[in-house]
Amino acid sequence: MSNVLIIGAGGVGRVVTHKCAQLPEVFSQICLASRTVSRCEQIASELSREIRTEQVDADNVPELVALIRKNEPKVVVNVALPYQDLTIMDACLETGVDYVDTANYEPLDTAKFEYKWQWAYQDRFKEAGLMALLGSGFDPGVTNVFCAHAQKHLFDQIDTIDILDCNDGDHGYPFATNFNPEINIREVSANGRYWEAGEWKETKPMEHRWDFDYPEVGVRPSYLMYHEEMESLCQNIPGLKRIRFWMTFGEAYLTHLNCLVNVGMTSIEPVGFNGQEIVPLQFLKAVLPDPASLGPRTKGKTCIGCLVDGTKDGKRRKAFIHNSCDHQECFRETNAQAVSYTTGVPAMIGAKQILEGTWRKPGVWNMEQLNPDPFMADLTQFGLPWKVVEMDPEKPD
Ligand code: NDP
Repeated sequence: MSNVLIIGAGGVGRVVTHKCAQLPEVFSQICLASRTVSRCEQIASELSREIRTEQVDADNVPELVALIRKNEPKVVVNVALPYQDLTIMDACLETGVDYVDTANYEPLDTAKFEYKWQWAYQDRFKEAGLMALLGSGFDPGVTNVFCAHAQKHLFDQIDTIDILDCNDGDHGYPFATNFNPEINIREVSANGRYWEAGEWKETKPMEHRWDFDYPEVGVRPSYLMYHEEMESLCQNIPGLKRIRFWMTFGEAYLTHLNCLVNVGMTSIEPVGFNGQEIVPLQFLKAVLPDPASLGPRTKGKTCIGCLVDGTKDGKRRKAFIHNSCDHQECFRETNAQAVSYTTGVPAMIGAKQILEGTWRKPGVWNMEQLNPDPFMADLTQFGLPWKVVEMDPEKPD
């Protein structure tokens, strides 16, 4: 029935491949391609069915076009890095194939966290009758779908949304990042930003703290950050008054990060060293543990959700829609920890919705623009069950 091409054999690529391989009735033939083919072969060796593996430089459009023509997929799942989004979208347009990713495009030289480059493809995808599904990970991704579910089923009017992301996993290292260190550190060392009364308000990194009581985890300090799903949600949830994003960080993580920022190791400006130019953040990535190696060591849970405040049937309502995942359980199933798992499962589900036609719609779309119901049902079925906890709307946060 179909054929999927997965690009990127990191932590997330491993989970997408495992999950697609579990569903042969939807993903009849799978090809996994990445810069380092041995990583694809390693993942292929973990599966109980045959898949193809290929080497590709996803920065190179002609190489991607040749790969797509050779494998003839119906959908490409891009779980390489955000730097490759546009080249892969270009190759999909040239070959007439649908596209899914989990993170917005980033230019190499500036950290922007903006959708504008990808939204600019809207007309080209529409005219070609192709679909690009943007941000089909957990956050962005499931968080957008949680908001669409709240809008459709739980509220008549949504006033505020707080997205809360807790990773309570412990990998035993003094400092490591759970996903690509370049992307992770760029995200957390940037200024915070939230949207209120129609405009963006900027904060210093880690300026605002909220000790939130996460179900299945407990009270954890959470810090206000900018996160990309807010850019589309503030436009697509009618009448929204405020949206913020919070992420938990342990004390050891913040102490190390502050030191790395202060000595210049998180900079993306190239510096000369022994006659060659190096980007400090890229060098830092090379000395930190590979996120893929954290899987067997990580214990504990994640809890990510949307705290939504608004009205239903004339009464105030506040609800926390969330999922909680256990790192060790994720590892037993896919050889990857929960951060990769919570991203890879929704990427598989996004591709599934497109292949089955439930979400297929020409154009470039963010997740909340599509019907949340089939996606929410698949979350429960394929490893990310969710719950809605009613909260007291009169109790201050
Ligand atoms: P990793 O760094 O573990 O893996 C990235 C993979 O992409 C590596 O295998 C790498 O190859 C490959 N790659 C990098 N550049 C190229 C290239 N030019 N051509 C071909 N392959 C390339 O990252 P993760 O798996 O942790 O993350 C994957 C994506 O998921 C990222 O975009 C990240 O931002 C996103 N993400 C989204 C989340 C969400 O909730 N929405 C959460 C977490 C991550 P090599 O092995 O050779 O280095």
